[in-house]
Amino acid sequence: MAKKQKMTFLKSAVKMKDYPDGNMKEIAFAGRSNAGKSSLINVLAGEKIAKVSQAPGKTRLLNFFTMGESYVLVDMPGYGYASRGHEEQKVWKKMVESYLSQRPQLVGLVLLMDMARDWQQDEEVLAQYVMKHDIPILVGLTKADKFSKNDIEKAIVRIKKQSRLEEVFAISSQTRKGCHELEEYVYRNWVRES
Ligand code: GDP
Repeated sequence: MAKKQKMTFLKSAVKMKDYPDGNMKEIAFAGRSNAGKSSLINVLAGEKIAKVSQAPGKTRLLNFFTMGESYVLVDMPGYGYASRGHEEQKVWKKMVESYLSQRPQLVGLVLLMDMARDWQQDEEVLAQYVMKHDIPILVGLTKADKFSKNDIEKAIVRIKKQSRLEEVFAISSQTRKGCHELEEYVYRNWVRES
């Protein structure tokens, strides 16, 4: 954001008919359960606006938040197929894919993953799906406070290689390092420029 703007909860939705009206640009935040998505959203909001550490599978809605007058942040339900039953997985997939493929306001996806993890099939499937719809994507490697500077550099190189994506950021919601830089990047490149 150009200047500090208030983040406000707008609404939750599952189906398209319930998405917010209006034509403000939207940026989606996704990640498997426990990636640190809620913690980052809370840092960006400057308050506890997103719930932290719910049981996996509990957050099944798309949550829309306005970032002042700038754009809408969309908190997508955490993925992690292993922890879900088959039916739940299907419902999740349908909701996420409908949103990602049919939302003209969507200008980019921030994919969050724990810096300790490798890029896996779930990340690859999501990234491929998003890119197929010409939506830009960046990766935020979370919990960077657990690593040395050297290991952070290595993790960035490793994930760039595994994902074949160019924009990979290291962030920590605990120290807040990198969080506002990531937000600044998406605002400049996806909101202001698109
Ligand atoms: P979500 O499921 O993706 O929304 O993840 P949460 O934000 O609920 O975080 C999952 C767990 O990781 C919680 O125990 C958080 O306290 C922890 N966590 C999140 N961000 C950080 C971080 O930057 N550093 C550290 N050390 N732990 C974090």
